[in-house]
Amino acid sequence: MDNICSPYLEINLPAIYHNAKIIVEKGRDYGILIDGVTKVSLGDPKIAEVLVEAGVFGISDSRIESIKRMKESNLNTNFTLIRLPCLSQVEEEIKYADISLNSELSTLRALNEAGEKLKKKHRVVIMVEMGDIREGIWNREELYFVVREVLKMKNLELFGVGTNFTCFGGVIPTEEKYMDFIEIVDDLKRKFNISFAIVSGGNSSTIPLLFKGKIPLGVNHLRIGEGIMLGRETAYRKVIPGARTDTFRFIGEILEVKEKPSVPWGVIGEDAFGHKPSFKARGVRKRAILNFGRQDIDPEGIKPEILGVEVLGATSDYTVVDISERDDLKVGDSISFSLNYSALLQAFTSPFVKKIYKEVDL
Ligand SMILES: *Cc1c(COP(=O)(O)O)cnc(C)c1O
Repeated sequence: MDNICSPYLEINLPAIYHNAKIIVEKGRDYGILIDGVTKVSLGDPKIAEVLVEAGVFGISDSRIESIKRMKESNLNTNFTLIRLPCLSQVEEEIKYADISLNSELSTLRALNEAGEKLKKKHRVVIMVEMGDIREGIWNREELYFVVREVLKMKNLELFGVGTNFTCFGGVIPTEEKYMDFIEIVDDLKRKFNISFAIVSGGNSSTIPLLFKGKIPLGVNHLRIGEGIMLGRETAYRKVIPGARTDTFRFIGEILEVKEKPSVPWGVIGEDAFGHKPSFKARGVRKRAILNFGRQDIDPEGIKPEILGVEVLGATSDYTVVDISERDDLKVGDSISFSLNYSALLQAFTSPFVKKIYKEVDL
């Protein structure tokens, strides 16, 4: 390897496998299929492979480019596009995704036409709005109309219905919410005399209900990202029983170590991001500057793994930490951090963050 000054993201594949496995097995206990959601990793094929080994029903991702990347690595599974398809990209969507989540008739029509052109049948899941006010059909008449139209489309298979929670509106899925959802699903089944292969009930915020065995009968599918990747459910952000939280580590290198006043001096304007900075007066402190910044992580979403290090803030390419409590850190040393979802997403997205895979548990 050439000498690269690069922060690293360490990806612990056995830990990710473990989390996927316990969630898949819990789902199996209650007749619920689990899709592994790879979107935080930009469709990382090695992570997807581990999820497939753990027994997921399929792989879900939000970007068709990421699905293409995984598909081309010859993974034997089905791929679901979980972001609504782009009207201007329907051919790629038909080509690479086996299933997509949908809420717009015009897009469904375009998918059907693209399917005709590419001679490929595509499975669609119709999204129902249950209160989180992001994607999905809320109006019952519109829902009937869309289902009726899709059933006429030769190149689409109405594979299921789905809903989503706790993404935009912060709405937590409860048993009552699911009873309302199942009422709508049953209404559609009766009205059109059809059945659905999947009734997809949500994401990692449903894990508390899953582990308590409280998901009402009728829901048979979940799409799980964060629960697998970070070992946490997202309704209350608690660690999932038996899950591992050592799935990812972020490691940066120290570029400067100096004692400096904790408060800036001079005429104070805005910082590089247009905020008026404020600082606690703590006298002269020992600080280190690290080789990564907002381009690579969310500074609010990283936590030092060693004691006596405190994140003060970050600009595009630097993160400043207080290390007054430590006498061992010097230029060239590494400091490692745990990450939340937002920081992890950023780390995967930055081309400057080198990805390193731990293939075996040590
Ligand atoms: C991101 C996403 C998921 C996965 O969410 P997690 O909280 O990471 O489990 C599931 N479904 C849809 C539609 C999503 O956009």
